[in-house]
Amino acid sequence: MTIATSTQVVLASRPTGRPTVDNFRIEQAALPATPPNGVLLRVLYLSLDPYMRGRMDARKSYAPAVEIDQKMTGEAVAEVVESRHPDYRVGELVLAPTGWCDYAVIDATGLRKVDPALSSPSARLGVLGMPGFTAYSGLMLIGQPKAGDTVVVAAASGPVGSLVGQLAQMAGARAIGIAGGADKCRYVKDELGFDAAIDHRAPDMADQLAAACPGGIDVYFENVGGKIWQAVLPLLNRFARVPVCGLIAQYSGADENVDDRLSVTMRQILTKSLLVRGFINYEFADEHYPEFLRVISDGIRAGRILHKEDVVEGLEKAPEAFLGMLEGKNFGKVVVRVATA
Ligand code: NDP
Repeated sequence: MTIATSTQVVLASRPTGRPTVDNFRIEQAALPATPPNGVLLRVLYLSLDPYMRGRMDARKSYAPAVEIDQKMTGEAVAEVVESRHPDYRVGELVLAPTGWCDYAVIDATGLRKVDPALSSPSARLGVLGMPGFTAYSGLMLIGQPKAGDTVVVAAASGPVGSLVGQLAQMAGARAIGIAGGADKCRYVKDELGFDAAIDHRAPDMADQLAAACPGGIDVYFENVGGKIWQAVLPLLNRFARVPVCGLIAQYSGADENVDDRLSVTMRQILTKSLLVRGFINYEFADEHYPEFLRVISDGIRAGRILHKEDVVEGLEKAPEAFLGMLEGKNFGKVVVRVATA
C-alpha cells in the first residue's frame, strides 16, 4: 500500500512555564519510501506521557529535546501496513516510537510486537507498557516493600501510581494514595482498594497524610515532588526507601509556596539514613521486562490488578489532552485513538 503523507503534531514553539495549545501545530508531512529493514506503520493508539513536557524544553536531560518544527516524540501501538523487515508481517501490531502522527516509516530493528491475545492493544502503552514497567521496576527493585510497610504514592489514579499501590498491597504493605479531587480518591480507595486516599487539593493535605500514616512512611514512591514531597519528608521512617520516579508538579516551574531547600531534604536523608535513588525505567528493562509482563498480565487476568484508560478520540485532540494531563484533567492512562484496527 502507498501512503504519501502523514498528519503530525509538531512543536511550534517552546513554552515558558505552562505550555499552551499554541506551542503545537498540526501539519501534513511527506512520508519517505520504506527503506530496507523498515516498516510503514498506521498508528492505532498514541500514548501521552508526562515526560513529553520535558522534551518541549531546550534544557539538557537524559534524552534530547524535540527541536522546533519537529514532530513530538511518543510511543504508539501501530499496525504494520508495509514491511521490508523479515521479522514483521503486514497486519501485525507493534510498539513503536512513531511520534505524534497517524502514519510513520521507521527502522523496525528492535521493535516489540503486541500480542492481542495478551491484552487489549492500548494496555501495552499503560499498565502493560512503559508506565507499568516504571511502577514495577521502581517499586520492586528500589522501594522493596515488605509486609507491614506503609507505601505512599501520588498521581495514584494514573498508570504508574495505580500499579504502585496495587503491587505494594500484593507485597503485604499498606498503600496510601494521593490524588486530585473526590472522584479520583474514591476510585483509588474503593475500586483499586488502597487503604486510604488523600486529596492533594485539600488545605489540610499534610495533616490528613500524617493521620493516614500513624507509623510513618517506609516507601515513598516519588511521582510529583512539590508540596507533596514537603508533606512526606517529615513522616519518613529510618531506612525509608524513596524511588524518585517523576516530579510532575515541577515540570512547568517551581511552586512558590513550597519550601524546597535542598538542605532540608538533605538533612533528612542524612539523619534517617534514607536511600534515595532516581531511575529511568529502561535501565532495568533487559533484566526485568519479561518477568514484569508475566506478573502483571497474570494479575490482570486473575482480577487482582485493575487499570483505567482515558481514551481521547483523534490525533488533533492530542495537544489539548496532553496539557490536560499535566494539570490532572485525565482520569487514567491517556491514550489517543488515532485509528481503529
Ligand atoms: P498520570 O497519567 O498519572 O498523569 C499525571 C498526573 O499527575 C495527573 O493526572 C495529576 O493527577 C498529577 N499531577 C499533575 N500535577 C500535579 C501536582 N501539582 N500535584 C500533584 N499531582 C499532580 O501520569 P503517569 O502515571 O504516566 O506518570 C506519573 C509520574 O511518573 C510522572 O511524574 C512521570 O513523569 C513519571 N514517570 C517516570 C518514568 C521514569 O522512568 N522515571 C516513566 C514514566 C513516568 P491528580 O489529578 O491526581 O493530581
